[in-house]
Amino acid sequence: MTYDMVVIGAGIAGLTAAIYGRRANKKILVLESRTYGGQIVSTKSIENYPAAMGISGFEFATKIYEQAVSLGVEIKFENVMEVIDGTEKQIKTNQNVYLAKTVVIATGSKNRTMGLANEEKLIGKGISYCATCDGAFFKNKIVAVVGGGNTALGDALYLSDLAQKVYMIHRREQFSGEAALVEQIQARSNVEIIPNAQVVELWGEKQLTGVKISQNGVEKQLIVDGLFVAVGRVPENEKFANLVELDQHGYIIADESCQTGTVGIFVAGDCRTKTVRQLVTAAGDGAVAATNAIKYLNQL
Ligand SMILES: Cc1cc2nc3c(=O)[nH]c(=O)nc-3n(C[C@H](O)[C@H](O)[C@H](O)COP(=O)(O)OP(=O)(O)OC[C@H]3O[C@@H](n4cnc5c(N)ncnc54)[C@H](O)[C@@H]3O)c2cc1C
Repeated sequence: MTYDMVVIGAGIAGLTAAIYGRRANKKILVLESRTYGGQIVSTKSIENYPAAMGISGFEFATKIYEQAVSLGVEIKFENVMEVIDGTEKQIKTNQNVYLAKTVVIATGSKNRTMGLANEEKLIGKGISYCATCDGAFFKNKIVAVVGGGNTALGDALYLSDLAQKVYMIHRREQFSGEAALVEQIQARSNVEIIPNAQVVELWGEKQLTGVKISQNGVEKQLIVDGLFVAVGRVPENEKFANLVELDQHGYIIADESCQTGTVGIFVAGDCRTKTVRQLVTAAGDGAVAATNAIKYLNQL
């Protein structure tokens, strides 16, 4: 059986593309390697999305997932390993091979690591990339957050309600996140901001016991039970490097039309070259990618 459209990734971009595809009566399969919803599921409260004030990322994603399923979108939890181009595209997962006339790549992005020795080994043993997922393990403990953007500020606020003390380690003098969040952080008595600093060493074999930081070139030790890393995100497009063109940072090159240079392959959401990576632009891309894919299908 050949699908009209296979969507890779059940984040907001992918699910929106699937909804548009189904509403045009096309046969749609969504393939997702983890859980539906993508990166937004880890956030406690949605910001900047019209009419979604105050709802959690999980609640938001669940509504979109249920909408897609109710329309008849097929969703399978499999990891896409490769896409082979042709009149019919072959989509190879860790379990199956599927055929489709069009493909929408909506693989989003993953957490950037600090690239330190021991980092991978200590994930889940003191190191986390998600404060709302793991914060509760650090009730009344001492934690540090690394980063200076909105995610890091939001994580520090969330953790300061739970932990005894929160260090905010930031490599610059000023935060890059929103002024409103910075003001809230500065008002928290249990948050200590450490500017112009980087984590240079992680301690602990079975569990994180502390970190070494370098602040203005001077090394210091911090005893912490947990370290929350919020230093940005990177795309997950290596698997498609032979299929579509990537920019120097690994994003799939496409403009607002969401069309790649490969016929029948479209791209939506945070995984493409763009300036604003938010829910509203991910959903917008999903709609545009699917609409252009539908146009292409109708001309076949
Ligand atoms: C903590 C946090 C809070 C945020 N808060 C907000 C907010 O309040 N407002 C806002 O507008 N934006 C927010 N954002 C940004 C917003 O979440 C993203 O811009 C948006 O979710 C991107 O959606 P996406 O579908 O493009 O990608 P993603 O959400 O990253 O989804 C991509 C999906 O593809 C899957 N995938 C990847 N590779 C494969 C593969 N090979 N095979 C199968 N599946 C694959 C992934 O598992 C993932 O589920 C936040 C981001 C974070 C991290």
